[in-house]
Amino acid sequence: MRNTIAVLSTAILMWAGQAAGAETPYSMADFARVPKIDSHVHDNVADDTFLALARKNNFELLSINVDYPDFPSLSDQATVAHALRARDKLHFHFTTAFAMKGFGTPGWAERVNQRLNAEKAAGAVAVKIWKNVGLIETDAKGHKIMLDDPGFDPVIAHIISLQLPLIDHQGEPKNCWLPLDQMSTDNDRSYFKEHPNYYMYLHPEGPSYETLMAARDRFVAKHPDLHFVGAHMASLEWSVDRLAAFLDRYPNANVDLAARMTQVMYQSARDYKKVRAFYIKYQDRLLYGSDLAQNPSDKPAQFTREAQAFWEMDWRYLATPETQHVADLKADIKGLALPRTVIDKIYYRNAKRVFLAGQ
Ligand SMILES: [Zn+2]
Repeated sequence: MRNTIAVLSTAILMWAGQAAGAETPYSMADFARVPKIDSHVHDNVADDTFLALARKNNFELLSINVDYPDFPSLSDQATVAHALRARDKLHFHFTTAFAMKGFGTPGWAERVNQRLNAEKAAGAVAVKIWKNVGLIETDAKGHKIMLDDPGFDPVIAHIISLQLPLIDHQGEPKNCWLPLDQMSTDNDRSYFKEHPNYYMYLHPEGPSYETLMAARDRFVAKHPDLHFVGAHMASLEWSVDRLAAFLDRYPNANVDLAARMTQVMYQSARDYKKVRAFYIKYQDRLLYGSDLAQNPSDKPAQFTREAQAFWEMDWRYLATPETQHVADLKADIKGLALPRTVIDKIYYRNAKRVFLAGQ
């Protein structure tokens, strides 16, 4: 009898210990150990810099090729992606993209679809559409081409038939439509100061924030079979309530968190419980991403140092209870200390499901 009780109490102690262990959030010491996927990077250099950093930190990379004038050309980005994939299939994945040149003219959709076939055969796991759709590209009449333009339909149908998810960067952070002194973060303030051509507050003749959000919502509703990934929290980074409503309305949508952490920190500094509850409720719909980009002009040592610090800042915020000073907010921000199971989904399992199920 004594022995039974002893065994039983040992069992209860072990169970209690495991339960407590399950509820202890990760620490900074766990960062390099836990398997992770960064679902939004741009690795535009065919050397081992970014991959070595990824391996060291137990990250797989999803490198997004994008029709962006400041990056190398789309074909150069694809060449780099193929080379890096050949170098390390375990840690490197990539998406393809297509150029808008010729949109609306005969043969455009056929050319794009052929390119998508070839890139899927080379290993691409998704397709990216950049913010030039909605903000920059114009049709023959000079009107902005919107994401729900019927000209995209044959390409979207093809993307669905290839079973590739679509990553869409629609619009900009809402700060982009506000005067500098009303923006919530210094990173947006300095980015739009340096990129006046993308700073919509200076271009009131251009599409409004809500016009772009509405076009995207019509697009997602129009293609319920499309696996839609809204890059940068679907540009709803300023309000977890608004993002929750989007995810509730569109069950085929997920979002990545890339380069929008400070806007969320701004919210958790004001309502910690609400922001933490958002991550827990939508734990199956959120994909960790950084938007770290290595380009040919970058110095490898400096890139490595900055990327490591950036990854650690995000982990400290999402995974641990630590408080850190965030210069872009001029504030001390307390970590959300999300449960380990939630972190494992946001940092790994969701991206496996959405992007890498076939690999
Ligand atoms: Zn990006």
